[in-house]
Amino acid sequence: MAKIIIIGAGGVGNVVSHKCAKLAEIFTDIVLASRTLSKCEAIAKDVLSKTGVTIRTAAIDADDVAATTKFLKAESPQILINVALPYQDLSLMDACLSAGVNYLDTANYEPLEEAKFEYKWQWAYQDRFKDAGLTALLGSGFDPGVTNVFCAYAQKHLFDQIETIDILDANAGDHGHHFATNFNPEINIREITAKGRYWEKGLWKEVEPMSVHQVYDFPVVGKQDAYLLYHEEMESLCKNIPGLKRIRFWMTFSQKYLSHLKVLENVGMTSIDPINFKGQKIQPIEFLKAVLPDPASLGPRTRGKTCIGCDITGTKSGKKKRILIYNSCDHQECYQEVSSQAISYTTGVPAMIGAQMILRGLWRNSGVWNMEQYDPDPFMEELMKHGLPWQVTELPLA
Ligand code: NDP
Repeated sequence: MAKIIIIGAGGVGNVVSHKCAKLAEIFTDIVLASRTLSKCEAIAKDVLSKTGVTIRTAAIDADDVAATTKFLKAESPQILINVALPYQDLSLMDACLSAGVNYLDTANYEPLEEAKFEYKWQWAYQDRFKDAGLTALLGSGFDPGVTNVFCAYAQKHLFDQIETIDILDANAGDHGHHFATNFNPEINIREITAKGRYWEKGLWKEVEPMSVHQVYDFPVVGKQDAYLLYHEEMESLCKNIPGLKRIRFWMTFSQKYLSHLKVLENVGMTSIDPINFKGQKIQPIEFLKAVLPDPASLGPRTRGKTCIGCDITGTKSGKKKRILIYNSCDHQECYQEVSSQAISYTTGVPAMIGAQMILRGLWRNSGVWNMEQYDPDPFMEELMKHGLPWQVTELPLA
């Protein structure tokens, strides 16, 4: 049915490659391109041994718009799945526009020199994608991604009026290292050392990093320490869920993780301000990334489960109500299936499903879209089929 190009041969790129290869009736021709060709080749080899499908590989620098445009024109895919880093979003959107290719990513644009992520840069492409008759689907991972779709589903089927949303992300897995991040360390640490923010009654409120905490009793993984963070899906959800009064995002961290992070911060290792080291300019966080375990190496050793969901309150038929809609994933089961831990898995599967929605014409409006702007039903159906089953439970009103 369609040719696709996946950009980025990291943890998430690995999962997207495996999952697309398993759906040969939709993804008939797959090319995996990234900065380091050997990483693409290693993934292609694993995909071949697990699925019998051959995917082609290529080296590409996604920051180079001209080279990427040329590559896309030569390959002429229907869609580009961007699972490189958030720094590449705009250059890949530019290349897609020049080559006439639909676009999908899992994280919003972030400038390299500033730890700040916002949709405004990508939303500014709305008219260009519309005029070109192309679709750009933003944030088709788990959070953002599935969490947005959970909210759209709750809006469509479970509530007449949603009032509050708390997005909760728990990773109760253990990889046995003193300190490691489950996805790209640089992106992860930039995200959690930034100030926390949430949205209430039309205003953004800022709090010191990791200063707001609650113990949340999750299904499957039980009570966990959850900290309020800023997360990008709030920026679109507060616009797209009418009548919303408050939205917050929480992520769980162990005390061990937080102690290591505090020390690294205190000694300046998480800084993005360049320093001179032996005549070379480096960002301390880049160096830290180089010494930390590669997230892709955590797969075989991570045990335990994740649980990510949306705790939503509102009214239905005049009555107040509160629900949790969630998925739980087992790290080892993911590893057995696609040689990857659950964090990359929960991101890669929705990227594959989002691409499928576009290719099947179900989510195919021209322009730039966030996930909750489309009908959630076909996406929710595919989650059930491809390893991310979800459940809804009623909770007592707080
Ligand atoms: P990794 O660091 O494991 O992989 C990123 C890949 O992109 C690497 O292979 C890297 O190449 C490649 N890359 C980086 N720069 C370029 C470039 N200029 N040109 C071509 N390739 C490049 O990250 P993850 O797989 O963990 O994450 C991928 C994306 O998914 C990130 O944007 C992350 O923020 C997002 N994400 C989203 C989540 C969600 O739920 N929405 C959750 C987790 C992640 P090289 O191998 O040479 O370094």
